[in-house]
Amino acid sequence: MNLTEASAALQSAHTVLIVTHVRPDGDAIGSMLGLANAVRALGKQVTAAVDGGVPSFFRFLPLAESVQSELHEGAWDVMISTDAADEARTGSVGAYGFANSKVVINLDHHPTNPMFGTWQLVDAAATSAAEVVFTWLEHMGLAYDETVAMPLLTGLVTDTNGFRTSSVTARTLEIAHTLMRRGAVLTAITAKVLDAKTPADFALWQRVLPKARLEDGVATLAITLEDTRSVGLNEPDDAGLVTFLLDVEGIMVSAVFKEHAPDEVRVSMRAKRGYNVSDIAVSVGGGGHVQAAGATFRGTLAQAQAQLVPLLHEAVARGDREIV
Ligand code: 5GP
Ligand code: MN
Repeated sequence: MNLTEASAALQSAHTVLIVTHVRPDGDAIGSMLGLANAVRALGKQVTAAVDGGVPSFFRFLPLAESVQSELHEGAWDVMISTDAADEARTGSVGAYGFANSKVVINLDHHPTNPMFGTWQLVDAAATSAAEVVFTWLEHMGLAYDETVAMPLLTGLVTDTNGFRTSSVTARTLEIAHTLMRRGAVLTAITAKVLDAKTPADFALWQRVLPKARLEDGVATLAITLEDTRSVGLNEPDDAGLVTFLLDVEGIMVSAVFKEHAPDEVRVSMRAKRGYNVSDIAVSVGGGGHVQAAGATFRGTLAQAQAQLVPLLHEAVARGDREIV
């Protein structure tokens, strides 16, 4: 990691842009907001932006209202991209930022990151981009309050699914401990980010669960545009089903295929420890982590399943059941 170079670039900057990935999750918003609030406290002029703005369920985070949903003007000394596995994932705000920033810092934890940008703070062993932000703030010796601690703990909690993933180590819990000491409230985060389901989420589960297929260690589920519309969700979402399917005993990999358009399918995949879905995502232009990966597939729902389901079965055959 280019900790020294990135710190020097940040410290000499007056204007800083922070962006994250499209369809942001808790780690995207948490790492972006935690960093934005810390850098603001340094006296820098900070712009934070993500395509479409902060999803409603993360608006409880401090200064979430300061995040812009689009960018059409401005130029920055430094742009920082957080939790974006590649350049394209930073969306329209990222494209504008790349063209109008002198230095780009790529802060991430995806092993598939192609190392874009001027300086890289990429740690594939980190549980979350929020953990990388924590390490960076620690390296710079910055003191901070709950406006930073709360978003960072949200990133940790989201990407570890509540400290359950194999990426969790004693250090992860030490970081959580430090963030709680600085004012982050763990139960507020788990209740809002992990547990809360909207009535539309519930209606989706009720409607689509009968379609789930569990076969030879592989769980798959297809969600059509009609499913999404009929339950009143604005955008195709699995509402946590991909993780729920993986919890079933004997299931080693799970995949949810979400129809976004008649020729565009978003695929979310999860794997138990010892199994790998990242290679499958990369094979269709996506990426992610060994146990959690995703991609956008050009084609119909049927085509996406025809191409990927055999690969999911291969992933089960290649995996190691002994690692638990
Ligand atoms: P999810 O299934 O929650 O959308 O994504 C799982 C993981 O894969 C996340 O870490 C996410 O950043 C990554 N991921 C999802 N979609 C893509 C994609 O299209 N490209 C890349 N490079 N990574 C993705
Ligand atoms: Mn992440």
